Amino acid sequence: MCNSNVSHLPTKIAAKDHEKQFPDVLHESGGKLFCTPCNIVVEYKRKSSIEKHFTTAKHIKRMAEMSRLQTRQTTLTEAVAPRSVASTERMKVSWVATCTAVNIPLSKSDHPAMRRFLKEKVINGGAIPGFHQLQEMHVGAVYEKEK
Ligand SMILES: [Zn+2]
Repeated sequence: MCNSNVSHLPTKIAAKDHEKQFPDVLHESGGKLFCTPCNIVVEYKRKSSIEKHFTTAKHIKRMAEMSRLQTRQTTLTEAVAPRSVASTERMKVSWVATCTAVNIPLSKSDHPAMRRFLKEKVINGGAIPGFHQLQEMHVGAVYEKEK
């Protein structure tokens, strides 16, 4: 009567039903059921094959990666997370590169107004060291790259 939109499908279970059952893991697209973290098509007509896929090493690994990614995003937005050395270094280098490109003397990094701006408005801005350290550590490296 009302369920005419699926009447042409011979199966009793539609991919959509599985999507509803595992909304974070499965999604339906074009009548096929996809495992979101693995990005592959899952056979959905038998429930056992979905459950079997959930137990594969690949799927478990992807699920772990996905939840780790979500946790990390939350941590970064919620708190002043301990910064990784790599991102701190990148921040310093891009700061020096930016100052160099727009002709801002690096000494302006020590200006109280600039400090406040960096600390309050720029993500990782507090990672930028004082002028002398910046000059010693990074000007050479940036010049090398720009050439
Ligand atoms: Zn999977």
